[in-house]
Amino acid sequence: MGEDFKIAVIPGDGIGPEVVREALGVLEKIAVTSGHRFTTKELLAGGCAIDATGRPLPPETIAACRESDAVLLGAVGGGKWDGLPGDQRPEMALLGLRGQLGLYANLRPAFLYQQLKEACPLKPEIIGDQIDLMVVRELTGGIYFGPRGRSKQDSGEQAFDTEIYNEGEVERIARIAFDIARQRNSKVTSVDKANILESSRLWREVVIRVSQDFPEVKLNHLYVDNAAMQMVRDPKQFDVIVTSNLFGDILSDEAGMITGSIGMLPSASLGEGNFGLYEPVHGSAPDLAGKDQANPLATILSVAMMLRYSFNLSAEAAAIEQAVERVLAAGYRTGDIMSPGKTLVGTEQIGKLVTSFI
Ligand code: NAD
Repeated sequence: MGEDFKIAVIPGDGIGPEVVREALGVLEKIAVTSGHRFTTKELLAGGCAIDATGRPLPPETIAACRESDAVLLGAVGGGKWDGLPGDQRPEMALLGLRGQLGLYANLRPAFLYQQLKEACPLKPEIIGDQIDLMVVRELTGGIYFGPRGRSKQDSGEQAFDTEIYNEGEVERIARIAFDIARQRNSKVTSVDKANILESSRLWREVVIRVSQDFPEVKLNHLYVDNAAMQMVRDPKQFDVIVTSNLFGDILSDEAGMITGSIGMLPSASLGEGNFGLYEPVHGSAPDLAGKDQANPLATILSVAMMLRYSFNLSAEAAAIEQAVERVLAAGYRTGDIMSPGKTLVGTEQIGKLVTSFI
């Protein structure tokens, strides 16, 4: 008996609708092969929502997301709305979705496909057989949300931001990291600055405490400066990296870069239960919109993450990931990952190829 899953779909702006269309095509194939049912509801957010309703994140969109099991988002933003004041811009929809849906864990896998090795800026001897790591970033706490301010002093103007974490916040993100490590290669690296920061010392204590509930997962700790260095010196050593909002912001981009193309990077933001929002890392790429040139693989791989982390359908997730790998192995490339001797295809064709390889 197949299960029923409800997905809120937010195509957004620019290339968002194009890449989401291909990802939904892949999902339809999974429905056929697995017997599960995926009911989708299309919603507005971002620039298109501003045009239609006057606001970047209409209340109906949030309400429909809350009634769903997961959210699939394309991308939002574009030059047309750049002149709007900060709090009315399309990107506010992203912050609103994360905040209002309680999405506190950001998952950014960095997986280097063997077929795209030449896009990796690292030397072949550093890459070795495989780079396959996952950055788990705390998303709703830390210095981005702590007390902040500016004041005039005798010496001139002064500004401050505050890094604050409580035990509960660290514990829940640590549990997600250990859970994910259990489904991967059973290793967690916790990244902090415990030699200097009090908040990092609490972070480390709580992560060690949580680790006792996961005896099968190996835990080590790195200071963030060392972690940034290790990422390019020996990325193979990592399986799951768990870290704060600020450190994760930086390390997840560094990890993404070693895989070569922004068009290949999926992400997930998880909240309570199995609820999550899944989206490609890239933006709305207005330069490519409507040209059938965008790479939809990041969005397709985001759907694979949705199946694995929100719907507990690991085999179906792996089927999508393998299909992507086979499309690359067969030599098909979109413009962003094109190299000599390969076959250049558009957004729609590469989407159809993935579907046909499932
Ligand atoms: P971008 O990610 O949209 O584009 C950066 C570069 O990567 C561009 O050259 C683009 O052509 C290329 N690119 C991006 N996605 C691609 C894909 N799937 N296939 C092939 N090439 C791809 O970032 P940007 O140019 O800084 O921002 C454009 C707009 O997107 C802005 O309005 C920005 O605010 C918004 N944005 C949205 C999100 C989001 O919705 N999550 C994230 C980042 C930026």
